[in-house]
Amino acid sequence: MKPVSMLLASAAMLLAAPSALPAQNVAQVDTVDPNLPTQLPRTAIPHHYAVTVTPHAQQLTFDGTVAIDLQVIKPTPTLVLNAADLSFSSATLVPAAGGAPLAGRVTADKAAQTVTIAFPGTLAPGAYRLELAYAGKINTQANGLFALDYKTKEGADARSLFTQFEAADARRFVPSWDEPDYKATWDLTARVAENQMAVSNLPVASSRPIGGGLKEVRFQTTPTMSSYLLFFATGDFERVTKQSAGREVGIVVSRGNGSKAMTALNDEAQILPYYNEYFGTPYPLPKLDNVAGPGQSLFFSAMENWGAIFTFEHRLLDDPAFTSAAGRHAIFGTEAHEMAHQWFGDLVTMGWWDDLWLNEGFASWMANKTTQHFHPDWGAEVDQVAARENAMGLDSFVTTHPIIQHVRTVEQANQAFDSITYRKGQSVISMLEGFAGADTWRRGLQAYMRKHAYQNTTTADLWAAIEGAGATGLTTVANDFTTQPGVPLITAGPARCVGGRTSVMLTQGQFSNDRRTGGSHSWHVPVRASAGGAVTQVITQGRATPLTVDGCGPLLINAGQTGYYRTLYTPAEIEALRVAFPTLGPVDQYGAMQDSLALSRAGYQPMGRALGLIDTIAPTGNGKVVERALLDWSSLYSDLDGDKASQAAIAARIGAYGVRLQAIGLTPREGEPPLDALLRPTLISELGRIGNRAVVAEANRLFAAWVRDWNAIPGSLKSAWLEVVARNATPETWNALHEAARATPGQTERSSLYELLSSSRDEALARQALQLAISGEPGKTISASMITTVAEAHPELAFDFVLAHLAEVNPLVDLSGRSRFVAGLVSDSGNEALIPRLEAYGKATFTPENRKPIQSAVTRIRWRAANLGRIRSETAAWLKAHPARSAPPRRGERG
Ligand SMILES: [Zn+2]
Repeated sequence: MKPVSMLLASAAMLLAAPSALPAQNVAQVDTVDPNLPTQLPRTAIPHHYAVTVTPHAQQLTFDGTVAIDLQVIKPTPTLVLNAADLSFSSATLVPAAGGAPLAGRVTADKAAQTVTIAFPGTLAPGAYRLELAYAGKINTQANGLFALDYKTKEGADARSLFTQFEAADARRFVPSWDEPDYKATWDLTARVAENQMAVSNLPVASSRPIGGGLKEVRFQTTPTMSSYLLFFATGDFERVTKQSAGREVGIVVSRGNGSKAMTALNDEAQILPYYNEYFGTPYPLPKLDNVAGPGQSLFFSAMENWGAIFTFEHRLLDDPAFTSAAGRHAIFGTEAHEMAHQWFGDLVTMGWWDDLWLNEGFASWMANKTTQHFHPDWGAEVDQVAARENAMGLDSFVTTHPIIQHVRTVEQANQAFDSITYRKGQSVISMLEGFAGADTWRRGLQAYMRKHAYQNTTTADLWAAIEGAGATGLTTVANDFTTQPGVPLITAGPARCVGGRTSVMLTQGQFSNDRRTGGSHSWHVPVRASAGGAVTQVITQGRATPLTVDGCGPLLINAGQTGYYRTLYTPAEIEALRVAFPTLGPVDQYGAMQDSLALSRAGYQPMGRALGLIDTIAPTGNGKVVERALLDWSSLYSDLDGDKASQAAIAARIGAYGVRLQAIGLTPREGEPPLDALLRPTLISELGRIGNRAVVAEANRLFAAWVRDWNAIPGSLKSAWLEVVARNATPETWNALHEAARATPGQTERSSLYELLSSSRDEALARQALQLAISGEPGKTISASMITTVAEAHPELAFDFVLAHLAEVNPLVDLSGRSRFVAGLVSDSGNEALIPRLEAYGKATFTPENRKPIQSAVTRIRWRAANLGRIRSETAAWLKAHPARSAPPRRGERG
């Protein structure tokens, strides 16, 4: 794109005299790794920023100045740094050694999100201070400095301001070297309303009234850190605090929400000392806040700004009138994830977005580990397997990518925040911790933290540290799984029992939904297996690897489910596993069941093999496993749309779980097992979906009571019960929900009511919800998720609507999530007629290198179109041959 000239600065144009520079400045070297990618010319390195901002919240604009202490490292006539949507009024360069300031001419390149500041001649290497005065925009989605509007408890309109800078939006707030490797220290000063609170990474250093109802708040200087971690917020806040491990932990919320912050505050205080000990490096800042934002985003729910985490209210506030058991667990999980980043990401940062997984995979894994540690009865060990399945869902298509990927554009950096980065990263770390042993792994991590604190790393630095702690051979396994895309497939041959031990040949290939023929990657896979005795581990080498394990019971490959691969058994072995299934632990049941279902759906084996396993899950089983079985049946129910007999057979299976709901009761019970509390809403939802008479009647009864009194439904079950009604809404019930949505002040509850309005199966009501989404009534951040919710039952309707209303819809989706939003509406549809339209949208909207989400959706649509017929006919045949749970198949009979 052609650069746009923005400003001609006045004043004298002089060059710095190199001879005047102090020796230490001349000697100062480039600390930024020259081997890393960059989008900026490597001619100068910033060391310190002093930023002052004055937001004008009502006008949605702000003024700013910044003084950047930098080092010019090679002779250059220009300085190039990042800036987006900023306009400049002056640019001055002051040589540190003295001499006249140089006025710069600022030219913006909108596409590159840079400004070039030209000086009349060549700048000599040395120290300078660059002073810029500028103005910017306050956005209404979570990019850069943004506003969230909400209603106070009293029903008044209010607005708070927050920042969101990852991946590359600090440049919308302050002109900067906005790449993670350019670490620097930051001084932030903000001029805000005298009666409001201002929050940043560090505590307030000073605050003084400056007239006009304003005060100037100066924050303490940050340690050296990446630009994407800077944070600022201001609003009518209150802050609750606690001391933990010698630090102040706090939750910052809109005034009036303090009591809803206590769950998160206690979680935070509990986790901090655990992390200090685990990482071996104490949390380095004096305080750690978590700041609640009244709104939401399709792109993220929380952000790990150093010392000032940001979290949308629905993942931070515990509201007895609304928060479900799963919601309370999510508060802990989110807190644990963002706090892990305070070390992994903030203290030690990936050098470039190629290694984003180092941040996200690690924080996800650590959050799960922490949940297992503090809440062993929450089923987090099963969630770990669920994360693997989630990742493999994406990793089994040809459009996948390796964990470590090449990121070249801002848009690609945004797209990198996907299931491969988070969930595959988490799963591979889990496998590698198993390979290294938990103690060795942790010693390696502690060494990594010590060695690289306040610096940047690549993935290789992590492997070097763990191998250095004693995990010999780890790098080979780790490289295979982080640099190659896709899912290994281990095919187990016939098992032979000799002398009380089971021998089997393992053959390695690649599991893929859409690339069954052709070449395969090759991995060193740590395979753990059992056959009734102790678990044995082998590392696969080449195509075939023999395995011998103690015992002659049913063979279980991937025992404990920490391996990132799929396992295909012979018909005899999977039948033996099916018979033994009730004796397996929840983790293995969950993992083997999902593994088998993916293999069946992809056509590696008949559907019946997987259905036979799912069918063994008794209503009394582990809550997480029962939930999974229900959801699997439920999705097959949708797949078999139009086949009444098969749907009835599936409904009978779902209905059989009704006894579990009877046993645990329709309302929460004091002191009940956490997994019962988690399972109850799923039982209500899935039994409601198939029209279970008792559940539907109770839903209608509660709805009628709720219309008169919003406390008539227990808070933790409110959305579950209302969802049953909303899905089957009539115009009358829809209108009643709409009225409640309009009148509800609490942002989270209000959003969920608007989403419920979007979940109707009735097409006319779904259309009404789409119109409502762009009407302005729900507020700026709810609409995108309303449209996504409509797409669950009516993908094509939502897709057509968005394409016809792009100008209205685009401002309602955050920039970082826009490339995935439209593709996501139809990626689970099997209608190939949508493909040309989706491609045309992609072509018109994104440059070729940024079209990955579109290609990925196209691949999924094609796959579903090609496979749904087979999945339907095999499932229907199996259901016919296996009519009821009460008459289990005879031993030896195969599905
Ligand atoms: Zn994260």
